[in-house]
Amino acid sequence: MCKFCSSDRVISVSAKCSDLSTVEFGNKEHNGYLPDDLGIGGGDYVEFDLCLNCGRVQGEWPLPESGIERRATPRLPTLVDDRHQGMIQDLSARMTDSDGTDFLGCAEILLQDEDPQTVMVGIRYLLEDPMTRNAGFQMIEWIRDWTHFQQVRRQLMPTLRQIDEDEDAEEDDY
Ligand SMILES: [Zn+2]
Repeated sequence: MCKFCSSDRVISVSAKCSDLSTVEFGNKEHNGYLPDDLGIGGGDYVEFDLCLNCGRVQGEWPLPESGIERRATPRLPTLVDDRHQGMIQDLSARMTDSDGTDFLGCAEILLQDEDPQTVMVGIRYLLEDPMTRNAGFQMIEWIRDWTHFQQVRRQLMPTLRQIDEDEDAEEDDY
C-alpha cells in the first residue's frame, strides 16, 4: 500500500545495472555502480517501489545529503575581494577561450604583479573547477622556485586536501 496516498497500486521495480549507472547532480557526474544513498537501490541494482496512483517512490523522504550532492557543493567559500575581481575575470576568459589549456596565458595573468595573494587566489580559483584544475596544478609546478612558493602552497592546502578527499570519495562511491 502506498504510504503517501494509501492506494494499493504500488509496483516493485528491480533492474540490474551492474557498473553502468550514471547519476548527475549539479557539476558532478558519477559513473559506475549505483550509489546506495539515493533511495533507489544501490550497487548492481536499481530498485524502488512506485505508486501508480500518486507517482511517488516509496521510502523515507527527505534523505540526508547524498555523496554526489556533497561533492557538487563547493564547501570552501571562494573569497575574492574587489582587488582580484579583474584578475579572476581575465583568468576565466583565458580558460574559456582555450578550453582550459592556455597555461602560459594563465601564468602571465597570475604573475603580473608578483603578488603572492593574487597568485594564491588565482590558483585556488583554477583548482576549484574541474574544467580548469589541470591549469591550477600546472601553475603550482611552475612557481616551485618562486620566493613566495611556500607561502602560496600553505594557503592552498585546504583546497588541495579537499580535492584529494573528493577524488577518494568518488572511487569509493557505490
Ligand atoms: Zn500513492
